[in-house]
Amino acid sequence: MLILRIAISRLCFAVFTLLCVFVAPVPNGYAQSNELRLSVSQLSEPIVIDRDWSRRVGDSAHYAEPNFDDAGWERVPLNAPWPTGGYPESNQIAWYRLAVDFGRQARVNPQFMGNLGLKIGRVYSAFELYAGGQLVGVRGGMPPNASPDWDRDIVVRVPPESISKEGRLVLALRVWGGPKAVTSRWGGGVYGDTLWLGDYFTLTSADFRTALAPLFLASLFLLSAVFSFYIYSRSASLRSYFWFALLSSTLAVYCYSLSDLRFVVPLDFVAYEKIEYASVCFIAPLLVHTVWSILEVELTPLTRALTAACAVLGAAIGVIPGLEINFAAIDVFRVFAAVLVYQYVRTVYRVWRQGDDRAVVFILGSLVFITTSVHDLFAAVVLKVGPGNMWSMYGFVSLVVCMGVLLSRQYAAVLDNLGGLVTGRTQELRDANTRLARYAREDVLTQLLNRRGFQESAEALIARAQAQGSTLSLILCDVDHFKRINDRYGHTVGDRVLQHLAQHLTLNVRDVDILGRWGGEEFILVLPELSLSGAQTLAQRLCDSLPSQIFRVDDIRLGLTMTFGVAQWRASDSLESLIARADVALYDGKTRGRCQVVSERPTAAKGSLG
Ligand code: GH3
Ligand code: MG
Ligand code: MG
Repeated sequence: MLILRIAISRLCFAVFTLLCVFVAPVPNGYAQSNELRLSVSQLSEPIVIDRDWSRRVGDSAHYAEPNFDDAGWERVPLNAPWPTGGYPESNQIAWYRLAVDFGRQARVNPQFMGNLGLKIGRVYSAFELYAGGQLVGVRGGMPPNASPDWDRDIVVRVPPESISKEGRLVLALRVWGGPKAVTSRWGGGVYGDTLWLGDYFTLTSADFRTALAPLFLASLFLLSAVFSFYIYSRSASLRSYFWFALLSSTLAVYCYSLSDLRFVVPLDFVAYEKIEYASVCFIAPLLVHTVWSILEVELTPLTRALTAACAVLGAAIGVIPGLEINFAAIDVFRVFAAVLVYQYVRTVYRVWRQGDDRAVVFILGSLVFITTSVHDLFAAVVLKVGPGNMWSMYGFVSLVVCMGVLLSRQYAAVLDNLGGLVTGRTQELRDANTRLARYAREDVLTQLLNRRGFQESAEALIARAQAQGSTLSLILCDVDHFKRINDRYGHTVGDRVLQHLAQHLTLNVRDVDILGRWGGEEFILVLPELSLSGAQTLAQRLCDSLPSQIFRVDDIRLGLTMTFGVAQWRASDSLESLIARADVALYDGKTRGRCQVVSERPTAAKGSLG
């Protein structure tokens, strides 16, 4: 199984490699000979002329002259790399020459003669470009006023007078390889897209478009940074948004530093190199922090130390003058980055093994990045295609997009959570309100209606009786000598007895009756549809049930009696006046010896409305 898997992966790799070789863009034409013959029609599209240039290490003003004899010079591709260390014997200066023969016809084509342009790709570290012996373009400063400037293409117009009567254009390029820091690293010379010949406007607009791509990316990253900072400012718990915001800002700066249009802001070339190198050093640790926080994984001390070290390197590039520090720091950074990449692979793999699909998104993004990087490697090593055809930048963007997807998922989860939380809290509030409303009407000890609850319910019943023309009665009852129970057994037992009594009364009245605790050991009942005699009967039944009722509290068994006062509702009654009459009757009962039912005087009862 393992062997099969390895075989399949090898096969995929081989197919992919072939694809890279065939699909990678190739410049549309190469000139072959030193005395290059080109017809005007061949230049309808810009062509690359980088083969068979004459090169000489050394320096002389005569080398630019069209008639200079360069037969003894070596023949090389224009972008043939210089040896490491460059050419110190010539003060790091070399010349290149190439003659292009357009034929006599070219001279009589004013359209062609006026619009011919040259684009020269990037050159370490400074150069002068001559056409027909005339200086037509300069990048950077040549010694003695040396200043490197290698990250910029130039497009120049070929002056018509630089083409001879015979239609011959002699191009010469004077190149300075740069200071030791550069030559010891890159040797020197031409790199990248090398030299294009064609219509001046076509070349200029292509150049503008190439410069626009990184600028567009920079704007996207900037937007993403602003958005992420905003989200983080609203919810500090979303830490991954903080890291992603920092990462996006740094990527925005990096992309901006790659665009040729950056020179709109007139910073010195070295400053831009520092920005580019420093942002590379910052991107890796920020990437690590973002990925780790999205996956909700703790950083190991080693990873933490490496990310801090990368940040220190970035800061060093910014602070220490000169380009030497850039190269030294980037070498150390590569070592750190390699360990961080290993940590990344390990962490994503571990999270994936735990069945977390967030890792799958990272794996997909990484695969795209790796694929594009392999393409670039082949393009550079096998096809020697310049940085204009790099795909890895877009591969990296896709990795960042994957992060964006996971971040928005995280945000959606937070919103869902918040929604759930709000629903939960609302329900809790509702329950609390219901409980409060119940407590406002209910007696805590007996769970019967309290005075307020009873009043509300009784008044509703009275209103109904009034509206329906029916009758109702009221019983007020009080435990006899309850104080003695308290005195003898204590207040706690007294409480339990009150609870038992409440239960007993509840069980012995009708469902429609309303029972409440009027206060202390006094209870109150409203009996709808019952006249005085009916109420009296019910009260008597309650009164009779009590002496035989033994209440058990722990191992104490006790019985009690109650006195009952009964009154019937009259048309002129308020709840207060009705209770007052029942209270008088109850007081009568107490004075007459307790444990009895006493009704209001029958003569006073006028009956119901009906
Ligand atoms: P009477 O037959 O005249 O009604 O005598 P009594 O002892 O029942 O009446 P009194 O009004 O003298 O005493 C009532 C007692 O009820 C006094 C008070 O401490 C007690 N009491 C009132 N509310 C509670 C309560 O919630 N729990 C307990 N354990 N005792 C209470
Ligand atoms: Mg009492
Ligand atoms: Mg009392």
